[in-house]
Parts: sequence; structure tokens; C-alpha cells
Amino acid sequence: MTVFEFATAGRIIFGPGSFAQLETVAAGYGKCPLVVTGKRRIGGNTFAGTTFPVAGEPTIDLVRAGVEAFRGAKCDIVVAIGGGSAIDAGKAIAAAAANPGDLLDYLEVIGKGQPLESAPYPFIAVPTTAGTGSEVTRNAVLGSPEHRVKVSLRSPLMLPRVAIVDPELTRSLPPGITASAGLDAFTQLIEPYVSSRANPMTDSFCLDGIRHVAASLLRAHKNGGDGEARTGMAWASLLGGLALANAGLGVVHGFAAPIGGMFEAPHGAVCAALLPAGMRANIDALRERDPKGPGLERYATIARIVTGDPNGSAEKGARWVEALAKKLAIPTLAAWGIRSRDIPELVEKAGRSNSIRANPIPLTPVELATVIERSL
Ligand SMILES: [Zn+2]
Repeated sequence: MTVFEFATAGRIIFGPGSFAQLETVAAGYGKCPLVVTGKRRIGGNTFAGTTFPVAGEPTIDLVRAGVEAFRGAKCDIVVAIGGGSAIDAGKAIAAAAANPGDLLDYLEVIGKGQPLESAPYPFIAVPTTAGTGSEVTRNAVLGSPEHRVKVSLRSPLMLPRVAIVDPELTRSLPPGITASAGLDAFTQLIEPYVSSRANPMTDSFCLDGIRHVAASLLRAHKNGGDGEARTGMAWASLLGGLALANAGLGVVHGFAAPIGGMFEAPHGAVCAALLPAGMRANIDALRERDPKGPGLERYATIARIVTGDPNGSAEKGARWVEALAKKLAIPTLAAWGIRSRDIPELVEKAGRSNSIRANPIPLTPVELATVIERSL
């Protein structure tokens, strides 16, 4: 076995009803929490603190406002209760509030990309969707509307102190978000599994997570009150976060970053729309240029899990995923305003993205363009 490293949140508390532990757990890390919340109201959420609501995917300005709120209320801990947007916002606020420089000093691509000087304030993440896995990752994705890009604030120090994953909090998610967040989670299990940076630990997480998505996603979409399916998806999402933070992603996320920067399109919906074509492009390229390599075999393993066919080919798995996206009524990229004329710019930006470096095989610009064409 090769040498590998695995890093994650300091503590993970998982299971139905675990949300009830939040107050006691938080009290162990700070006295005055800034509570970053998403759009959805969580029933029984009486957690005390200074509330900072986040309406959409976080921007640099929103994080600056959050830091002001944090300092103004003399907070000493950040608790985020929400989807990926609230968690990324809270994670960035906890980091930026503890560091003297301007946020741009620490941002990659559009900023100076300096490492954080001080460890962030304690940060507790409580996801209310099953999809992002952000509760166990070390970066926060922030939009810069003036640059039309999304960039990461990233540091090993940003791994949350505690992740509390309570599947009950996802029960009230509407079917559309259940579907797109669920396919994002699925992407975040498939991409790290076929990634060139995969390791034995992320592999076992990915395979178990893929199994749970195959068993639970349609059920949770059809009946949001199906507790077992909700638990299966919350578990799969957590495993996806553990995997992507340690093994990287691939072509779908390579496109998701520039699309998210250029268009008003939620991350989960973009990944959901891209996943079938992204898989197909990778499988076609592997079949053509690396037919005996591990990439194709890994896609075949995925196919065997999701289809239940012990002889399932990589292509059969891709068709299964395509059919799943149809059953979940995932809108195409065109629904978010993306047109064929945007392809060259997206291909160019995806080719330079961080995520694409871990793709199992380098894709040509023509192959990359096909991914968008087929997803429109
Ligand atoms: Zn994602």
C-alpha cells in the first residue's frame, strides 16, 4: 500500500436526533456564537446567539459583513446551520475574523493566496441538506461578482472543529433540492473514487457512499419523510465530503467552478446537470487512450454497484446515472442561461481549474466541449 494522508473535522457526530447535542457541544468551544443560517427554517432551532442569515451562495462581501457582525457582537465561535452556502460562509467568517489581513490577502486566483496567519475561531458545521459534504472539508467557496469567478479560501486550519450531521434536518427539503444536492453528493463520491489522487481510505468511503446513493436517492426524492432514505443520503453526503477533501474531484467540478462564477446557478444543480456527460466523456477517453488502466476498471466497479449486474461495464454505469438524472427531473444547463456560445470560455476556464487536475485522464478541449454540449 502506498503512503497517504487523511485529514478531517476534529469530531463528527452523526445520526438522527444528533442536532439536540449542538448547544452542549458548542458550549465546550465558546461562549458567544455567531449563528450563520441558511434560507430554510429548521424546526426547533432555538439555538441562542447572534444570527447572521445567508440567502444565497456566499460572496466576498457577505463574508466581510459576517466578520463585522462577529466582531461587533464580540463572538468567539461560529456555528453554521444550513446547506453548503451557510456552511461555507460560516467557515470563511471563522477564518477571516481570526486573521488581521483583508480577505483578498488569503484568497487564491484573485487575491494574494497567502496562508492564514492564525487558526480560525472554533467552527461547528450542521448541514441541513444532503449534498455538499462541506462540514468536513477545508475550503470555503466564495463568489466574486466583479471578477465573475468563484474562488476558494483554503487552509488545513479551516477543517471544522465539529460536524453534527442529523438526517432529520433534511426531512423538509423539497424534492428538487433533494435531487440536485443528492446528485452533487453522488458526483463527490464518483469523482474522488476515479481520481488520480484516490487512496485506500477514500476508496472505501466512496464505495459505501455510492451504494447508499443507489439505494436511497430516488426514495428520498419520492418521499421526503422516508427516514431511512434520508439517513442513507446524509451518510453518503458525509462520505463524499471526507473523500473529496482528501482525494480531489474531476471534470464535473472543474466546470462547476467557472459556471458558478459566470451564471446564477446553484452548485448542486450544476453538478447534477453535468454528471452524466462528465462520466461519459471520461469513460470514452479512457476506452480510447487507457483501456487497460485503473480508471476504466473503477468505473466498471461503480457500474456493478449501482446496476447490481456483476458483469456491468463502465458504459452501463454511465447509462444508469443518466437514467437516474432523468427520473429526478434534473434541469439541463440551458435552464440556468448557459448557451453553446459560452462553451469556449468554459472549456478554457475548466482546463485551468484545480479540480480537473485529479481527473482520471486529461481531456482534450474537444472532449471538454462535448461535456457542456451534452448537458445543455
Ligand atoms: Zn459538488
